[in-house]
Amino acid sequence: MTVLIVLPHGSVAAVADYYESIKQDPVKLRQFLQQFPKGGDLHNHLSGAVYAESYLQWASEDGKCIDLKTNVITPPPCDGTISLKQLMADGSTQPLEPIIDALSVRNFERRSVSGHDQFFATFSRFQTAALGRFGDMVAEARQRAGRQNMLYLELMISLGMLDVIRLAASSGRLDAPFGERIDHAKVDEIVSQVITQFDAIEARQQRLLGCNEQSQTSAVGCDVTVRFQAQVLRTFAPIEVYAQTLLAVKLMQADARVVALNFVAPEDHRIALRDYHQHMQFVAELSAAFPAEPAGITLHAGELTLGLVPPENLGWHIRDAIETAGATRIGHGIDIAYDSNMDELLKSMALKDILVEINLTSNDVILGIKDAAHPLPTYLEYGVPVTLATDDEGVSRIDLTHEYQRAVTTYDLNYQQLLYFARNSLQYSFLPGASLFSTTLSATVVDACAATSVGSREIDKGCADFLAASPKATLQWELETRLSRFAARFFQP
Ligand SMILES: [Zn+2]
Repeated sequence: MTVLIVLPHGSVAAVADYYESIKQDPVKLRQFLQQFPKGGDLHNHLSGAVYAESYLQWASEDGKCIDLKTNVITPPPCDGTISLKQLMADGSTQPLEPIIDALSVRNFERRSVSGHDQFFATFSRFQTAALGRFGDMVAEARQRAGRQNMLYLELMISLGMLDVIRLAASSGRLDAPFGERIDHAKVDEIVSQVITQFDAIEARQQRLLGCNEQSQTSAVGCDVTVRFQAQVLRTFAPIEVYAQTLLAVKLMQADARVVALNFVAPEDHRIALRDYHQHMQFVAELSAAFPAEPAGITLHAGELTLGLVPPENLGWHIRDAIETAGATRIGHGIDIAYDSNMDELLKSMALKDILVEINLTSNDVILGIKDAAHPLPTYLEYGVPVTLATDDEGVSRIDLTHEYQRAVTTYDLNYQQLLYFARNSLQYSFLPGASLFSTTLSATVVDACAATSVGSREIDKGCADFLAASPKATLQWELETRLSRFAARFFQP
């Protein structure tokens, strides 16, 4: 594995030494990585981020029900199903363990279901519990991030997508001229409704966490910045995917909280495979017609493997996402080895600065790809930017610290590589503004801040002006401050 970062001296050398000394000790390593400032999580589906226990608790409070044969949570009334309030009451003899297993991948290997099928089956089981609880869900994700010394979350959410699918199904026409395929006025109405929903989500999660901007509260999670990606469900008819993509680009234009679009649902689904290239064309056409700033395009691409799909479906999705749709980030990127010219593609990804969001546990559970079969070392070797992400931390029963630990244990990472992953999670975030680093590989700071000691509290005017104009660089500065503080703990002069 190529390591291009120069080892600095002083406290960073001390923390790197300590890290090397405890790397083989899972207990001390967990503690170290939990406290290590990790930047952000760039690939995190909000509904999959929530643990089953929370869904059951909220569904119980909201009077919802569960079908114990299918483990599907249903809305009231509980006809032929069981009230979750009753089921979860003190003294109830109904065990919750099998339900929690059904709502996640916990213990899936003990059952006769593949990780892939179990993983994707969970979402329809808990989706009713999520309704009306999006603010609670964001609060949970944010609090968990805060406890792990994280600063940023880019959460994927499908607000308004089902509404626009209904609109497209009733009146959309893909063969009509551009601008007449969907009723834009009706899509704009949905945009307004989604913005209202975002307002309500934001207010609720702030209240739940106890954040108060005036008092600079220190409640856990309040210092975690949240932005959203509009997630398009790609297993629908072409006009319905088109309409969702339109909604996504309009949301990015209309609301600064929505910084990107993404395409989700199993990439190996019949429709996702059949329409993949057409979907990339939708993204290209609509992102050009409705330019936004930031214009984040990140796409799940190459979350496939031989056997799961026929070979003809392998080896071109990553390239198509970059070259046709204009994606600047890729989620997963597992099937790169099947590309007709992997060497050329990897070099061009490094050149174009395309980040790959790496989801180690998810790839193991869903695709059975892990250890040496995972392309992470290849991406590192070619200098393609990467960062670690959780994908669905609730469903997978993990957190971001776990993914760092898994990466360290599997690939014997050094401390400089941990810094690289953490820095990339902000450098390649879709937060607006210029980046602090001209390159994270060597941690080279842009000219405006080159004269100031990075992360320090004393900042010269040129750098202060630069930071003030860039929300992204401001958060990056905070990460550097935390990294310095973290490293100083290990330094004995
Ligand atoms: Zn994902």
